[in-house]
Amino acid sequence: MDLSILVKGGLVVTQNWKREVIKGDVLIEGDEISAVGHVKVRPDEVIDASGCIVMPGLINCHTHVSMALMRSVADDVKLEKFLDRTFAIDAKRTPEDVEVGATLGCLEMARSGTTTLLDFYYSEDIIAKAVEHIGLRGYLGWTVLDEKFTTQKGKPIKNCEDFIRAHKNRPLIKPIVSIQGVYVCSDETWHAARELANKENTFCQYHVSETRFEVYEHQKKTGKRPVEYLSDIGFLGKGDIAAHGVWLTINEIRELSKAGVSVAHCPVSNMKLASGGVAPVPEMLAEGVNVCLGTDGCSSNNSLDMFSEMKFASLMHKAHRWDASVMTAQKCLDMATVDAAKAVGAEKVLGSIESGRKADIVIVDAKKAAMVPTRQDNVVANLVYASSSHAVRDTIVNGKFVLRDGKIVTLDEAGVIMAAEHAAQELLNRSR
Ligand SMILES: [Zn+2]
Repeated sequence: MDLSILVKGGLVVTQNWKREVIKGDVLIEGDEISAVGHVKVRPDEVIDASGCIVMPGLINCHTHVSMALMRSVADDVKLEKFLDRTFAIDAKRTPEDVEVGATLGCLEMARSGTTTLLDFYYSEDIIAKAVEHIGLRGYLGWTVLDEKFTTQKGKPIKNCEDFIRAHKNRPLIKPIVSIQGVYVCSDETWHAARELANKENTFCQYHVSETRFEVYEHQKKTGKRPVEYLSDIGFLGKGDIAAHGVWLTINEIRELSKAGVSVAHCPVSNMKLASGGVAPVPEMLAEGVNVCLGTDGCSSNNSLDMFSEMKFASLMHKAHRWDASVMTAQKCLDMATVDAAKAVGAEKVLGSIESGRKADIVIVDAKKAAMVPTRQDNVVANLVYASSSHAVRDTIVNGKFVLRDGKIVTLDEAGVIMAAEHAAQELLNRSR
């Protein structure tokens, strides 16, 4: 028998197609939501959500979670120096560092209401262990690039294939293919990655047009901008996720739209690295591109908090366009929930609180000073503009509590933090 949990008396931000906000209950049976509204059943357990907001778990569509160990190692410096510093530290990492870094990053996500992450890294087998241990949902992509550029042992494409084969059919993990970007991938690598994704019935994510330098260098080499090039070699595919997409022309945006590629917008990382430009998200939306949000890694953000990512996404475009009506709070919440679910091909499974969806639910305390007053008509604005991870009280993934009443229940949080502090210091010592 599946355990039933009734989340009772909250203000439920359903994110259903009508974007209804209702005062009521959410019934969870096993790993699914089975009823929303005024539920009259006797559940195994009742969770009091009065004075709270009940919302779908947030989906972080671009991150490198294990880099949490490298938080704030290279700030306020030019991109070249940032890359030198992070690559130097990254090269010294052990498998244990990857695991404790991923666990630390997952802890931060669970505490800030993120229930699903799209990760992009090598050693995803280790990261999968950390994600499953804490109990988050992970779309994990092993990085593929040309052999001559990699520090991975063996062939990246084979490593990715082995990872996918070993991690199929798990309840919380979906293995995918990550492709580093045009600057380290030949035509053959792009095609091999696509072939692998098709064969394994999964999808591809890749970095694209993050910096002007990347675009100009690629143009010098091939005569084409990165998205034009990917379109011309016949690579772009429905269901792909392209991260960043800062330096895109309107024609490239149309190519992405035509191909059915989603864009993972990473406003904080883009602003902090000062790579220049602002991703043309209003144009992407106008052209029908599905846009979701990502934090990117902790060395460039330096946080994994999707609440602040939603706020920055809105403010960045308002400031840039001199228009307070672009990128509304509702759109930003959509990009972190339903649009993100669509990006990963799970629009019927994740992203909203509706009967039949997976029970990935976050309960936010609306009695925190920063959240008062919260009403039905301002709750979405409060979540995007006023809230922070500190207001998250409970995080439920696949019907199970990860964070309950402000406490992580799936692992020893204090132990993880101690181990992470120690590993981060050792890593710095080794890379000096
Ligand atoms: Zn990235």
